[in-house]
Amino acid sequence: MINQPTISNGDIARPTYLEINLTQLTRNYRAIQQAVAPAAVLPILKANAYGHGLVEIARQLVSLDAPYLGVAFLEEGIMLRQAGIPTPILVLGGIIGNQIPIFLQYDLTLTASSVEKLQQIDTAAQQMGVRARVHLKIDTGMERIGVHYYSAAALLEAALHCQYCDVEGIYSHFANADAADLTSAQVQLARFEQVLAFYTERGLPPPRLRHMANSGGILQLPGSHLDMVRAGILLYGVYPSPEVARTVAVRPCLSWKSRVVYFKVVQPGHPVSYGSAWQSDHMVRVVTVPVGYGDGYFRRMSGQAEVIIHGRRYPVVGRICMDQLMVNIEWDSAYNNDEVILLGESEGVAITCQELADWAGTIPYEILTNINTRVPRVYVK
Ligand SMILES: *Cc1c(COP(=O)(O)O)cnc(C)c1O
Repeated sequence: MINQPTISNGDIARPTYLEINLTQLTRNYRAIQQAVAPAAVLPILKANAYGHGLVEIARQLVSLDAPYLGVAFLEEGIMLRQAGIPTPILVLGGIIGNQIPIFLQYDLTLTASSVEKLQQIDTAAQQMGVRARVHLKIDTGMERIGVHYYSAAALLEAALHCQYCDVEGIYSHFANADAADLTSAQVQLARFEQVLAFYTERGLPPPRLRHMANSGGILQLPGSHLDMVRAGILLYGVYPSPEVARTVAVRPCLSWKSRVVYFKVVQPGHPVSYGSAWQSDHMVRVVTVPVGYGDGYFRRMSGQAEVIIHGRRYPVVGRICMDQLMVNIEWDSAYNNDEVILLGESEGVAITCQELADWAGTIPYEILTNINTRVPRVYVK
């Protein structure tokens, strides 16, 4: 568990926690595998596994024989190695020269996004007397990292001459694969295929792992599955956008829960919370819940958010504080220690990540990755 004090009775001191269902994660992984077979599935574990907990999620996926794992940064890869994860790990992000020896030391797979970087990798591997695992990165329209598709031949050519690199992959990334209009995604895929024609034109085998699909590509662009797909948010049971086609059935594996810590009756004309922005015109029961924007429950959701208590939805009222929020239960009952669900499902009533995203004016990715490490993660099967 992250960021939690050690206490003598071993109980969770704080009633606010994330419950992560590893059985559901397994089901999602299997559903994606089945949908993309014979392509392999590379689970993406960046940003603390989309908030679900880097090492615990990695261990579960390793137990499912995931062939490869993906992270954004070198540090995330090192954390997995230090936790004893033996699986190949692709680091997706851009790199700088002095990081290369550390990649090699931890046997992390490097993304080579230019000829110069590829040569730096080859030289470093030679000097250290090791072989570097490398995936080539082609920019087909994201304009983030990677060699442009129209000048990719130089990188592919250079890769043929590397002596200390195992170039086991080549990949690109979609900018719009989760949109309803797939025109630009199709253009990107065609550009990537054009780059890959380099190998057929020369009668050479391409790198073993050609990959492009993120969650949007998995769901909407079967032609992009190639040898491997990179499953991020879909693995966690969340669809990347409201308009994406839900061609693979997955369910969320994360619930965010807390408990009532205070109950009171509020008189009309007595406003609730900072700024006195909300008040009732009749007497209501209001409960206080120990969670706030300091945990990643966005303050921007004030006035819109709802929570579930006893299988019913109730509005969060007044400004969301750093560590607490208030809920109007009208004249219903709720007692101290009763469960409050901020994200998740109870008795057939659900609050989804997309709803939180809509309230906060953001996307589900940011809801998940914004949940602070102050919130303990509890794993269930
Ligand atoms: C984050 C990321 C993914 C996963 O994206 P999802 O939409 O969460 O599936 C895949 N590839 C790259 C390069 C990424 O940065």
